[in-house]
This record gives sequence, structure tokens and C-alpha cells, in this order.
Amino acid sequence: MAVERTFSILKPDATERNLTGAINAMIEKAGLRIVAQKRVQITKAQAEQFYGVHKARPFFGELVEFMISAPVVVQVLEGEGAIAKYREVMGATDPAKADANTIRKVHAKSIGENSVHGSDSAENAAIEMGQFFAGNEIVG
Ligand code: GDP
Repeated sequence: MAVERTFSILKPDATERNLTGAINAMIEKAGLRIVAQKRVQITKAQAEQFYGVHKARPFFGELVEFMISAPVVVQVLEGEGAIAKYREVMGATDPAKADANTIRKVHAKSIGENSVHGSDSAENAAIEMGQFFAGNEIVG
């Protein structure tokens, strides 16, 4: 399998509870390398653009408000099959349905406040990394 990069967000419920280190430990234990990372307060416009695909969903407003409710940590993760691997490490969107020892099972508060985001395809990973990082900020 090829070495890939994926885009990750440690969401407001994670930063507010000081879980950045605990979640990063799970990421690194899974063999993913954190090759870029910064703490940012995202704007409403950025959140609306980022989750634009969910615009028509009933939870869209709540999701945007949640994503701007506190700072987040945006990251680029690198490793063999990183996109699928990180989705596996994250667990299902709804923590009640997530496998044991996944980030969401261990840390998420609810289906909305679910601690982490990870890109779902190579195409989206490239778009999402470009929204938050300049190329020279990613050091592999
Ligand atoms: P993901 O790829 O596992 O993050 O899941 P989706 O792309 O389906 O949804 C994006 C994000 O929207 C999720 O991670 C949640 O934060 C939020 N979300 C999804 N479904 C719901 C829901 O039913 N209610 C609420 N409040 N938020 C949701």
C-alpha cells in the first residue's frame, strides 16, 4: 500500500477537555505520523465551506456552531494507507456504534460532538489539506 496523507481535525469537544495529547497518542500508536499540526479558531464561513456537503441536513446549523465553539487542532497525518487507517482509528460517526478502542468510542460525547474529523477520500484529503495548510507547513 502506498504512503498517503490525510487531513484530521481534533474538534472543539476534544480541545475543551484537554484531549489533544490523548488522541495524538492513539494516532501515533496506530502508526500514523503527525507531519503538520496547528491550533486554530475556525470562522463560521470556513466551517460552512468545510461541511458544505451537509448543507441540506437538519443538523447543519448545529454542526457549524459546534465547530466554531472553541479552537480546533488541524493536522496532516502520513502513513501507509493513511486515509482508510485513520477512519478505522476514529471509529464510526456515532460513538455508540464505534468499535472498541477507537478514538470516538473512547472519547466522543455524541454523534455531533464526536472529537475528530478525518478525510474520507484522497480527493477530499487534498482539498481539505489545502484549506488549512500551505505546502511548506507540511514536513514529512
Ligand atoms: P464522519 O465522516 O464520520 O465525520 O461523518 P459525516 O460526514 O456523516 O458527518 C460529518 C459530521 O457531522 C460528523 O462527524 C458529526 O460531527 C456531524 N453529524 C453527523 N450526523 C449528525 C447528526 O445526526 N447530528 C448531529 N448533531 N451531528 C451530526
